[in-house]
Amino acid sequence: MILGILSFKGGQAKTTTAVHIAAFLSKRASTVLIDSDLNRSALTWAGRGELPFAVVDEQQTARAARQYENIVIDTKARPLSGDIKSLEKNCDLLILPLTPDPLSIDALKLTLDALGQIDKTKYRILLTICPPFPSHDADDARRLLTQAGLPLFEGQIRRAVAFQRAGLAGSTVDQVADPRSEECSADYEAIGQEILRIVKE
Ligand code: ADP
Repeated sequence: MILGILSFKGGQAKTTTAVHIAAFLSKRASTVLIDSDLNRSALTWAGRGELPFAVVDEQQTARAARQYENIVIDTKARPLSGDIKSLEKNCDLLILPLTPDPLSIDALKLTLDALGQIDKTKYRILLTICPPFPSHDADDARRLLTQAGLPLFEGQIRRAVAFQRAGLAGSTVDQVADPRSEECSADYEAIGQEILRIVKE
């Protein structure tokens, strides 16, 4: 399976999503995360600690394609239209992490409009860093995007410092000593299950 994680704006949890989806897949089959982001966030994350899968830069893509069953690509920030078309063609599914604030949603909608048609079966928007109740931001974002006819994952990722701790420790969130690490891990686990269902269809 080849998954591309992409976002049109920084701070949407693109790398955090790439790391946790790769961890989910690595429990089932050999998995590699390809860091194509010039910021090298995923490689830096991996260098700080230990992740249960390999992280390589894009120069190693060809070798990785031969060695691993699953490939997760942390794509470069601010992709151009040609990059996106190529990812759409070459990935089984694109995952677009999005924080539910109005500016991020506007940026995403503008980009999707500008792109014209990305095939709606080829991507899902993932709401990330969702603030807890009593905030309605995530629900509002979901309603708005659904009304706009855009495809979303059913699940979403809560906002929790445990994710920041995982990044600092170079681990996945389930390895962090934090009372909420289990529920945080379950959020990405549920998305992993959705991905398996979508890609099989
Ligand atoms: P991007 O790759 O889109 O720039 P990152 O994955 O690097 O995003 O995340 C940006 C910041 O948000 C990091 O500090 C990260 O630890 C934090 N973060 C990511 N996901 C969450 C979350 N669910 N809750 C709280 N903070 C998060």
